[in-house]
Amino acid sequence: MDFVIDISGKCEKHGEYQAKRWAMPGGSVMVSPCPACREERSQQDRALQDEARIFQFRLNMASAGIGSRYYESSFDNYRVSVDAERIALSSVQAYAEGFDRRTSRNLVMYGKTGTGKTHLACAMTRLLLLRNVSVLYLPLLTLFSQYQDITSYGGTGMREEFFSRMRAPDLLIVDEFGIVTMRDSERIVLHRVIDERYNRNAPVVFIGNVDFEVFERDVGERAFRRVLDDAETVVFDWERTPINRDLFVQGV
Ligand SMILES: [Zn+2]
Repeated sequence: MDFVIDISGKCEKHGEYQAKRWAMPGGSVMVSPCPACREERSQQDRALQDEARIFQFRLNMASAGIGSRYYESSFDNYRVSVDAERIALSSVQAYAEGFDRRTSRNLVMYGKTGTGKTHLACAMTRLLLLRNVSVLYLPLLTLFSQYQDITSYGGTGMREEFFSRMRAPDLLIVDEFGIVTMRDSERIVLHRVIDERYNRNAPVVFIGNVDFEVFERDVGERAFRRVLDDAETVVFDWERTPINRDLFVQGV
């Protein structure tokens, strides 16, 4: 006795299709479902998976300290119009692509405001997160206010918690040097962050609009030598591009 036969199935949405019909031992009958409906369902599943992936990725960007306006910043959408921009782009991209938690050096990105340093830092973060490298991006002011928050609400016992957070990520990116005039107490915090990462061979990206005298005062004389001895530098010294107002907005 033949339990499976070919029949013509009918789907309310897609019309007739080639179906198989099974006669089950208990006497019930099953007809294979419409293939077009099945394809639609699996497309919906894929779309949901994509959505979940995008959501998860944005969550990761947010946890890394990236503001929502920079979630889509990538090396591909960094606008290039002069040679200096091309060089900056390819240097930062090469640093990110060649990043190694044990052997990468520090990176100093300095120069004029509005040249897209933050965009490139976020593009770097994006690329590294996709490679499961942990990154923490902090404008200098945020770094200090996090220290302030954590110690004023959690007491001085929480100070160690703050420094361990600064040590933990594979890459720490500190933005907006030169914008803030630091207090001595803030410099002490910054020096310790830099020292501890240096002692662990953990790289730091320094970004800002600084002259090196100010930078030396801010990061401390000893750290300054260490940072620069062991750093790649990328200079952003072309004229700012007035057409793209987005580039003027820094940080989170
Ligand atoms: Zn159907």
